[in-house]
Amino acid sequence: MSVNLQTPIEYLKGVGPNRANLLRTELGIHTYQDLINLFPNRYLDRTKYYTISELQRNSAEVQIIGKITGFKEVAQKRGKRLVATFEDHTGRMELVWFRGQKWIRDSIKINTPYVIFGKANWFNGTFSIPHPEMELQSEHEKSLRSSMQAIYPSTEKLSNKGVSNRVLTNIMQNLFLETKGRFIETLSESLISELKLLSKSEALFNIHFPKDQELLAKAEFRLKFEELFYIQLQLILKNLIHKSKIKGFPFESVGSYFNTFYNDHLPFDLTNAQKRVLKEIRQDLGSNAQMNRLLQGDVGSGKTIVAFMSMLMALDNGFQACLMAPTEILSVQHYNGLIELSNKLNISISILTGSSTTLERRKIHESLENGDLQILIGTHALLEDKVKFKNLGLAIIDEQHRFGVAQRSKLWKKNTSPPHILVMTATPIPRTLAMSVYGDLDISIIDELPPGRKSVKTVHRYDNNRLKVFRFIRDEIEKGRQIYIVYPLIQESEKLDYKDLMDGYESVVRDFPQPKYQISIVHGKMKPADKDYEMQRFISGQTQIMVATTVIEVGVNVPNASVMIIESAERFGLSQLHQLRGRVGRGAEQSYCILMTGHKLSHESKVRLETMTRTNDGFEIAEVDLRLRGPGDVMGTQQSGVLNLKIANIVKDKSILQSARFYAKRILQSDPSLSFPENKAILRTYRQLSKYKNIWNYIS
Ligand code: ADP
Ligand code: MG
Repeated sequence: MSVNLQTPIEYLKGVGPNRANLLRTELGIHTYQDLINLFPNRYLDRTKYYTISELQRNSAEVQIIGKITGFKEVAQKRGKRLVATFEDHTGRMELVWFRGQKWIRDSIKINTPYVIFGKANWFNGTFSIPHPEMELQSEHEKSLRSSMQAIYPSTEKLSNKGVSNRVLTNIMQNLFLETKGRFIETLSESLISELKLLSKSEALFNIHFPKDQELLAKAEFRLKFEELFYIQLQLILKNLIHKSKIKGFPFESVGSYFNTFYNDHLPFDLTNAQKRVLKEIRQDLGSNAQMNRLLQGDVGSGKTIVAFMSMLMALDNGFQACLMAPTEILSVQHYNGLIELSNKLNISISILTGSSTTLERRKIHESLENGDLQILIGTHALLEDKVKFKNLGLAIIDEQHRFGVAQRSKLWKKNTSPPHILVMTATPIPRTLAMSVYGDLDISIIDELPPGRKSVKTVHRYDNNRLKVFRFIRDEIEKGRQIYIVYPLIQESEKLDYKDLMDGYESVVRDFPQPKYQISIVHGKMKPADKDYEMQRFISGQTQIMVATTVIEVGVNVPNASVMIIESAERFGLSQLHQLRGRVGRGAEQSYCILMTGHKLSHESKVRLETMTRTNDGFEIAEVDLRLRGPGDVMGTQQSGVLNLKIANIVKDKSILQSARFYAKRILQSDPSLSFPENKAILRTYRQLSKYKNIWNYIS
């Protein structure tokens, strides 16, 4: 092998220091390797030539054969532009240059056939192409070119500095000439033959210079598979290493806390899904390895009791447990819930949040360290260094995607040897996304709601039907039910949101006058104590209506509330709408969710509203959300590294992802250290990827 792919890009023929600089800053291309991995955005059919009369407004790049019949210079605000008249047998158009005009005039021949290429704009009654790529027709016919022309990602700066698609294509060609198009194979022979994949060299050649549609498709498949395969390999390997290296605390016995609770105090029969998930957790906790498990379940599927019973397993084995939630309200709710569940068990439970007093904190710190305190619940205040456990055996994180991976690992360090970790998500995550983002975790799913739940009826109503909606609310209150009315909260315009909320509140108060009706209001600007007071009034049934911003989004549990009104529903994301709807339908009564909007709705808003009225299935909603917003937005920027794929797309390439995971698993099952000769290429590639951090830099 002669050419090292780590060679800096400026050494490639046709690049040089200036262009190298541009490539580095604009496209992140530092080496030969980076350039090969610059995959085209799309392809252009180079066998297709347009005539001028065929041009259409808003067309993409076109290729035309014709002649320049004359030049003129046109003065403009600053300097001048060079305009050429370009003709074919069907008409005439203009070619325009704003820079490099002298060079164009000196080198372009008049009245000689050229093949020009570029994006035609409709301007002042004619078509014009700014800075077209031009090639003498005689040259064009000689050059060997595939019929599908790769169109590479570009930036304004690149095209301004003359690094056109043609230039990129040329240097790509040079790279293939220099390397003779031979690249080290990165997958194993057996994978290639079993999946009938193109070799690495064939795939790279055909992604850049596709011979035909079929080879292009095969090249894409091979490269997508490879990209996803190595991510999965990495995640699964991480999980395996984890299990073999990181000793957990084996919770050997199921003891009296668990058994007493299970036999005597269970408030309801567990659903089969809850039982199955508890068994999975029990298995992890009983083994020698540290548990790292994701618990997914739709809103209301009953994750809390699963969390609680898992904690009992820790307590039974002499360990402490903690539960961390993203907001104060939710922590309090969990605290109250667990106090109730444990009331016959004689367990010590405390709560630690931002508003805990110094005295409370001191007590908690003390009893945590001497082991008197068995369960600690709280917000991210739990992560503070001062919080030290005597022997933390299990840490549970609720509503995961509000916390980052970094926080997960911070919890680990709360002990000499990391505690078992259970991560619970309230919003279901589509399988493909879970596989990519949480691929290093084991996954349990509660896919069944407790019995007797009536699914929430959801409707969409326009604002001008508000009177009818209010009448409906009155009827429900008549029946003894409670109502939520939620206003959007979008941080950038906090003031406006606040105004919306207050206007809304006033109109609700007008229509539902005291003393017949009592109304609570909760929003982000209130002091925690006031919030609590208002929440408490609603929870205890003293108020019938809760007007709130999305602070009530997660976790809040008031079974008697049967109507959720969401104002300006078009401003909410799908997962938020689903979360909010999950606040009702918790009791035995039929519940309703009413989505209020104005008449002006974007296409996306319509899809969201239609999805909400069609289904209650959180997993289905999550799929739609992923399609609408893309993985980066669904998971938040924290995890965007994982999703920053070069060629694959986890929404569109679901089946490739599944097969990549399947094969990565199979290989690691038989050869966890990748030491078999047949896996040599995989090991080498894996090591190289880890070293050069291409796709691995997200690993915490
Ligand atoms: P989530 O998964 O959204 O956290 P919760 O744990 O808050 O759900 O449970 C929602 C409601 O369902 C709670 O009121 C809880 O007591 C109740 N619940 C949970 N499991 C069952 C079950 N197996 N049977 C009946 N009710 C249940
Ligand atoms: Mg919950």
